[in-house]
Amino acid sequence: MNIALIAHDEMKDTMIGFCIAYERILKNYGLYGTGTTGKRIMDETSLDVNRLASGPLGGDQQIGALIVSQDIDLVIFLRDPLSPKSHEPDVNDVVRLCDTYNIPLATNLATAEL
Ligand code: PGA
Repeated sequence: MNIALIAHDEMKDTMIGFCIAYERILKNYGLYGTGTTGKRIMDETSLDVNRLASGPLGGDQQIGALIVSQDIDLVIFLRDPLSPKSHEPDVNDVVRLCDTYNIPLATNLATAEL
């Protein structure tokens, strides 16, 4: 199973805390992450992440392409709900593709933990 991990800047500390708490589970899976999220996870945990481009530079679109090619089985996308992003269409497209391809998607910590 492959898991995509994406966190907006304001949510990156939350993502790191999640990855530390669930490190023993996550290490059993293939992990894909947008650039900065993936770098922080690798720097601050023992997890290996296949790093893509940074989200605003096309990383979200790369995650989308992996969803389309059925290489991603679960997406954890900790979005910042309080401030608009320059790459909002890419963010929304990841959500749309998860719904299109029936891929489980967690957009907040509570759902990710479930
Ligand atoms: P980042 O991208 O991990 O490169 O910061 C996340 C995003 O903003 O979509």
